[in-house]
Amino acid sequence: MKNKIFPNIVKKLEEIKKIEKLTDKEFSLLLRVKKINRAQLKIGNKKLLAWRIVFNDTLGPAKGGIRFHPDVSEDEVKSLSFWMTIKSSLVGLPYGGAKGGVKFDPKKSSPHELEQISRKFIDAFYKELGQDKDIPAPDVYTNSQIMAWMLDEYEKKVGHHEPGMITGKPLELQGCSLRDNATAKGGFIITEKTIKKFKLNKKNIKIAIQGFGNAGFHLAQMLYQDKLKIVAVSDSKNGIYNKDGLNINQVYKIKNETGSVSDYKQAKQISNSDLLELPVDILILAALENQITEDNADKVRAKYIIEIANGPISYQANKILFNKNIIVVPDILANSGGVIVSYFEWAQNRTGDILDEEYLKKLLQEKLDNSWQKMIELYEKHNKKIDLRTAAYIIAIRRILAAEKLRGNLN
Ligand code: NAD
Repeated sequence: MKNKIFPNIVKKLEEIKKIEKLTDKEFSLLLRVKKINRAQLKIGNKKLLAWRIVFNDTLGPAKGGIRFHPDVSEDEVKSLSFWMTIKSSLVGLPYGGAKGGVKFDPKKSSPHELEQISRKFIDAFYKELGQDKDIPAPDVYTNSQIMAWMLDEYEKKVGHHEPGMITGKPLELQGCSLRDNATAKGGFIITEKTIKKFKLNKKNIKIAIQGFGNAGFHLAQMLYQDKLKIVAVSDSKNGIYNKDGLNINQVYKIKNETGSVSDYKQAKQISNSDLLELPVDILILAALENQITEDNADKVRAKYIIEIANGPISYQANKILFNKNIIVVPDILANSGGVIVSYFEWAQNRTGDILDEEYLKKLLQEKLDNSWQKMIELYEKHNKKIDLRTAAYIIAIRRILAAEKLRGNLN
């Protein structure tokens, strides 16, 4: 049984309540879940637990990915839907937050079973979804093919075309060319900003990356192409470390051939927990939640951590890292490239326009520049007595509460 995540979100908001002097009403509104949808998907003689949770949609239709994982729980989906709410608000999108999950092991499922599960998910929840209501996207162990099956099933059910009901689709089904590596692209921009802001010497930086999937691999590839030294990477099986740097293209090739990065021979085998404690400058977390907790936070030697995964550092661990002067660039900004480009895809689907890729890249850069700037300004205004996460949360929460007030929900 995993540690619960949502109680830590409550603690974080209690902290912000004090800083922002929020009323009890504002505080409870921020923690109110709009709708929890639960289902059991019947696949053969198995019944898989599934959720679609809308946390808050005061800023617009809810947005958030769908996760296929054997450890998915309601607590996790609810926490992820909260983070989506905060993230969309921080980066100025017209969205609320939602998330979905199905509890099973996709690695042990055939493509036929994956298709069945994807279609059953839509059968269970299609009435809750729609381009003006709640818009899913990929997350851990889901991809554009799964989005395609889901779109197809949805359109069959409602009897009309509606590509804007889901993002992260293949290009042929009105996806967006940037979406495949959007999270990594955003993560790359934010890593560059971190290097510049904190005046790190690019030539000497050592980077370790946990997670080698859509987000982790693409980001590793972009950093490698930019001549940054990646000394360690890991996947769900294990990790590898070479203090002189890894050839990321080779590691990718091996991972594709054998299924694991640990078959790359020009490096030492390490465990996932070893990777978190390596003597590096930047640690990039791109796997799952709660990877750094109070059990290992003290052993972290990186000076900067970039959160590409959602919630990879527990509440208590965050405090330990802050006291050790380790700068953590929070998930809600560092991984927001995914939802920003999903927004471009959704906007194109709704208008029928097809926007130029270079223009969209510029827009992504601008959105991240603005959000980064606002976060840094608030962080510095508090004389660095709060961390970057707190600054980012405050910006997001102010926008949500302003919308709630305008709607009359705070009277
Ligand atoms: P993915 O399914 O493509 O890859 C997940 C990676 O994590 C794989 O390399 C897997 O081997 C590794 N992994 C799984 N369990 C692990 C463990 N216990 N220890 C170490 N590594 C482990 O997923 P992704 O899309 O790359 O998502 C990774 C993280 O980024 C998630 O937290 C996700 O919510 C977040 N994220 C993804 C996107 C996106 O657009 N893909 C957007 C925002 C946030």
